[in-house]
Amino acid sequence: METVINTNTYDVIVLGAGAAGLMCAAEAGKRGRSVLIVDHAEKAGKKILISGGGRCNFTNLYASADDFLSQNPHFCKSALARFTQYDTLDMFEKQGIAWHEREHGQLFCDGSAKQVVDMLLEKCSEHAVMIQLHCQIDGIIQNKGFDVHTNQGSMHCESLVVATGGLSIPKMGATGFGYQIASQFGLDIVETEAGLVPFRLTGKIHDALKALAGISLPVEASCAGQVFREAMLFTHRGISGPAMLQISSYWQAGEAICINLLPDLHVRTWLQEQQGLRGKQYLRTVLADILPKRLVLHWCELYLPDKPLQNLSESDLDIIVAQLQSWQLKPAATEGYRTAEVTLGGVDTGCLSSKTMQARDVKGLYFIGEVVDVTGHLGGFNFQWAWASGYCAGQFV
Ligand SMILES: Cc1cc2nc3c(=O)[nH]c(=O)nc-3n(C[C@H](O)[C@H](O)[C@H](O)COP(=O)(O)OP(=O)(O)OC[C@H]3O[C@@H](n4cnc5c(N)ncnc54)[C@H](O)[C@@H]3O)c2cc1C
Repeated sequence: METVINTNTYDVIVLGAGAAGLMCAAEAGKRGRSVLIVDHAEKAGKKILISGGGRCNFTNLYASADDFLSQNPHFCKSALARFTQYDTLDMFEKQGIAWHEREHGQLFCDGSAKQVVDMLLEKCSEHAVMIQLHCQIDGIIQNKGFDVHTNQGSMHCESLVVATGGLSIPKMGATGFGYQIASQFGLDIVETEAGLVPFRLTGKIHDALKALAGISLPVEASCAGQVFREAMLFTHRGISGPAMLQISSYWQAGEAICINLLPDLHVRTWLQEQQGLRGKQYLRTVLADILPKRLVLHWCELYLPDKPLQNLSESDLDIIVAQLQSWQLKPAATEGYRTAEVTLGGVDTGCLSSKTMQARDVKGLYFIGEVVDVTGHLGGFNFQWAWASGYCAGQFV
């Protein structure tokens, strides 16, 4: 939907036609506000379209403040309580979007993520929200409200909503523009970093483990006091999969990740049983019954002694248990914003009202969605934050 603008003054201008911006615009339009969305992209909702493997993991049944990282973990509570996962579900059901639940309460569209963008565009259109795409923003000036200067002319608004997202996937149009506006108006920025992102391995470990590319297995990964039990995937460059994406949001450069490759097994007891049952068989042969064969071949060569089970001493068992259940792996780095699903950090929540999302010291200036220092875990939480923060700001702009 692209609309020709015939006036240059609006009640509300929303910068960014992503999940949060579209939601906020539709809500403000519903209240009778005149709303314009501007975005430099050629179409609205590009990240929604690629999300969840094209099926958009649009919320999570168990969403709560505990699923979010922020310097102030309480900030998101108010918005999440005023627009809950059930409100999201209600919005989707009213639109007739069929959905299904996957593990950990993750809700996905049965069809395609395009249905989500279509729903948001319809809601905007219903309330006469205008959308200006291909629009480069040159500058914002505070002037009894705000003047927004763009390559398509200048517009004026009473309320300006910044919904330009984070830095992840610059190829898709992500920019740091929201942080720039925040700094221009004196708001603090919590240092940003790539989150929900795969890890890179280098050196000997990478050389030894690259043969495992493509293997996925359920693990328990822990780092910085956080534990995630999900799948881990070996890649050509390192490690990925939901467990690693989740832990990446907590990982600091130089730290090791602790990985339990057999989280559902008491390995020592199991090995002792196997010693009694098939003592002549070699450790790697026996492990191939409970771990992927290629993993056993390459990983065990690197980390474990290979002897007949009957020859394993108590200290061998200690080593085996420690390596299999508390494998310490030090990634060289993350893949960075190029492949990150989200950006950690952002506009400091201390500068915003948790009720309205308005900047405490700049009347009429609002920040919503990923540009704010609120970042969800993997599993539909980031969209829930986009819907909730967009909804809340939409009631006040
Ligand atoms: C590959 C991938 C898959 C994902 N899957 C999921 C998932 O399944 N579930 C989930 O909950 N989360 C998922 N996420 C995260 C989720 O997409 C984001 O958290 C969410 O889109 C943030 O919404 P937003 O509206 O704040 O920002 P965005 O959706 O990023 O929207 C920002 C908008 O601002 C525009 N913009 C940026 N800079 C400028 C500028 N300078 N001038 C004009 N316009 C500008 C952009 O073009 C964009 O349209 C995924 C992310 C990625 C990258």
